[in-house]
Formats: sequence, C-alpha cells, structure tokens
Amino acid sequence: MDTKTFRTYGHAIVDWIADYMNHIEEYPVLAQVEPGQIADQLPKTPPGESEEMEAILSDFKRIVLPGMTHWQHPSFFAYFPANTSAPSVLAEFLTAALGAQCMVWQTSPAATELEEVVMDWLRGMLGLPEGFSGVIQDTASTSTLCALVCARERATSFAINKHGFQRGSTQRLIVYTSEEAHSSVEKGVKIAGFGKDNLRLIPTGADFAMIPEELEKSVDADKKDGHLPCCVVATVGTTSSTAIDPLRPIGEICNRHQVWLHVDAAMAGTAAILPEMRRILDGVEFADSFVFNPHKWMFTNFDCSAYFCKDPKALTSTFEILPEYLKTDVDRRVKNFRDWGIPLGRRFRALKLWFVIRSFGIKGLQDKVRGHIELAREFESWIREDPRFEIMAPVTINLVCFRYHPSHHTFTEEELERINKDLMDELNRSGSMFITHTKLKGRLALRLCIGQTNTTREHVQKAWERLQASANRL
Ligand code: PLP
Repeated sequence: MDTKTFRTYGHAIVDWIADYMNHIEEYPVLAQVEPGQIADQLPKTPPGESEEMEAILSDFKRIVLPGMTHWQHPSFFAYFPANTSAPSVLAEFLTAALGAQCMVWQTSPAATELEEVVMDWLRGMLGLPEGFSGVIQDTASTSTLCALVCARERATSFAINKHGFQRGSTQRLIVYTSEEAHSSVEKGVKIAGFGKDNLRLIPTGADFAMIPEELEKSVDADKKDGHLPCCVVATVGTTSSTAIDPLRPIGEICNRHQVWLHVDAAMAGTAAILPEMRRILDGVEFADSFVFNPHKWMFTNFDCSAYFCKDPKALTSTFEILPEYLKTDVDRRVKNFRDWGIPLGRRFRALKLWFVIRSFGIKGLQDKVRGHIELAREFESWIREDPRFEIMAPVTINLVCFRYHPSHHTFTEEELERINKDLMDELNRSGSMFITHTKLKGRLALRLCIGQTNTTREHVQKAWERLQASANRL
C-alpha cells in the first residue's frame, strides 16, 4: 500500500471510528451470533493475490462487526470493564506506526524512559510507597506469574532458576490465596511449577474477603509439616464480588513468616486514585509486588497492566538473560525492561498511558471513577428498595451482586438459579445491555459492574427498568 492510499483509508477509518463512537448504542452489546457463524462466512484459504482495501473494509463491516461484543457500549455491565478512550486509541495509532520493539533502552530510549516516568506518576496517583518501581506487563495474569516466579526464586536463593525442580530438595513450596482469588493465580502456580496441590485456598468470611487468621493457621500447619511457605496472593477487588482482602493483617503475617506478598488489584486498584478510596490499599507497604490494570478501568485500551515491585533486583535477578547480541554499552546506566518480565519483545504501551493521563488529567480520571462508584451505590439502593430482589455481597466499589428472590416466595436454590439465569439470558439476548453471573458460596448471583467510559446515570437507570420489566413478567 502506498502512502497515498494509506492516507485515504486512514482518514476513512478515523471517520468510521468517530461514527462508531457516536453511534455505538445502535449495536447490540452482546454479539447476537451462533458458534461458527462468522467462520462460515470466511474463505478457508488466504488470498493468493492482493485484495483491495475497499473489499477488506467492506467484509470487516459485513462479517466481523456483527460478531463483536461491544465492550465500549455504555450498557456493558458484564465481567469487569476493559474500557478505552479517544486519546488511548490515538496513541495506539502512533504505537502501531512506530512499530518499535522496546525490549532494551537502546531499541527505543524514549519508550523506556516514558515508561519509567508514567509508572512513577501512576505510583504516586495510587498512593503506593515511594520505593516501589513500576513496569508495564501485558496482563495481570502475566504480572502475577512474574510475582510467583520471583517469590519462588527468593525463597530458594535462585536454586530453581539454576537447577530446576529436577534436583534435590524434597521441601515443598506453598502458595496461599483466597478461595475467591482469580483463576490466574492457579494458572500461575501451575506454570511456575509449584503444582496445584501446593496452592492453599484460604477461606473467606461473609464479606468474601480472606480471613487472615485462617491464613496464619495454614502457614503454621505447613511449616509444621516441613513445607516452605513461599507466596501469598491477596486480592483487592475479587472478580466475583470485589471483596477486599485486608492487606495490613495479611502483610503482617507475611512479614512474620518471610513470605512474599503479591497484591492483585486488577480492576479495583484504579479506585485508589480517589483519596476517599485509598483505604482499600491500607497495608500495601507490606507488599513485595502489586498489580493493577489500566486496561480494565482506567480508559487505556487493552493491553496495559501496571506491575510494581519493592525490590526490582528480585525481578531482574530472576529474569535476567544476557546473550552477546543484546549487550549494549549503556547497560549499566539504564533500565532494560526485557529483564523485568517474561517476553523479550515489548510493545510501546507507555505512550497510550501518557496520552490518557495527560488528556484526562488526574481530576478527569477521578471524576469518571468517582461517578461509576456513585452509580453503583445508587443501583444498590434501588435493588434494596425492591422486595423482589436481594443484594448478594457487600458493594465495595463499582460492582453490584444481586438476584431476583421475592421475599414472599419460597424457592429452592435450584429454582432461583434457573429463574435468575433465564432473567440474565433474556436481558442479554435483547442486545440492550450485558450482565454476567457468578456463584457466591454456592449461590448464583447476577453481577452488574459499572466501569465503561461513557456509562451515565441514564444507562444504569435503563438497566434497572429493563430488569424490573423482566421481573414483572415472571
Ligand atoms: N485478577 C483479577 C482480580 C481479575 O478480575 C482478572 C480479570 O478479570 C485478572 C486478574 C486477569 O486479568 P488479565 O486479563 O489482565 O490477565
């Protein structure tokens, strides 16, 4: 493609994106297609000859778009958000155009130094301790895996890096997390070689947060059995209900037993940019590592996961590899982020974070996030006032867990599960909103999470009216 054609289609695509942003509410939030429906419309083999951009774009609109779930729709209330914003999209254009491989300082000094600066901005914005150093990873899953591998190496004086699990020690390394932790912890435990048998799922209380006394009991029991407690993964904002594990008592336990503390605040961490929400991170100074995703709730398009650690040496000693072809003259004077994570190749993710923080300003980000939290509280109040519904978990931040359960009716748990699942499916099939479900202590709960960039009170109110209308028909 020559630059003349590129310019023509570049303008056309920007126009299309701006129209998409303006008219996104005309699309169904959840893709209304059956499995295989998209693939059936695509040729089985790639084209031998060049195709016109006109035809490619036309197929994008005709085939691909109907198969998209519109995460940027303001009535997207499912899972956790993966929100974005215009400045983030613009920065991604530039990142794609620069096409830089930001693995070491020399391969793009600005990428490394901008990453250092924006991560330090973020650290300050969240009120994380001054000594924490930041690096951008692709996802929270990768960040947690990094933490687990670092914990493993610190606990064994880098013996596993050197000898692997093949040789020697019969002492088992144990990882602890709550029964409500995200599945990425179990995945990380498996990949890092701990083995699922060595993951302890600590019970939670009525608020679905880890019970610190149960954690200490488990650590003591493992020590008694000759095992080596290695890492605790605490969650600030669990996926099912945004429960907040109490970091201070958990941190004190980790400190006493010299166990690595990793904090997974994948979505909820963003709330800490509000002074009134900083309490969710009380005790974070005990953490050895901490992750939150600007790609969830900070208007920065996927992927962008902010990983902070107390001792970057633990990270670089674990991941450092220095083949001759990557050595540079400035290695001693700069950060080479390739040693701060798993992949060698790194995208220039700091650029979009820089665009977003500058374009919104701290106040703009705070206003949006505060607005989402207020809307969640209002939605909670509507649920509480209607005797046909009940709240299923404390509303700590921007997620409301609830279900249809009329107080005057006696339903079995199975009946409630079916009714609520049907209610959710009907709403999602309508294309007008999208919510998801979870199980809390074995009971099905519907989840409505408010975090899409352009969600307003009107969207939440409409969701509530649709829910009520569906309930009226039951
Ligand atoms: N941790 C928590 C608490 C989450 O809710 C999620 C995803 O929703 C993750 C980790 C995984 O995030 P990622 O997709 O960035 O790996």
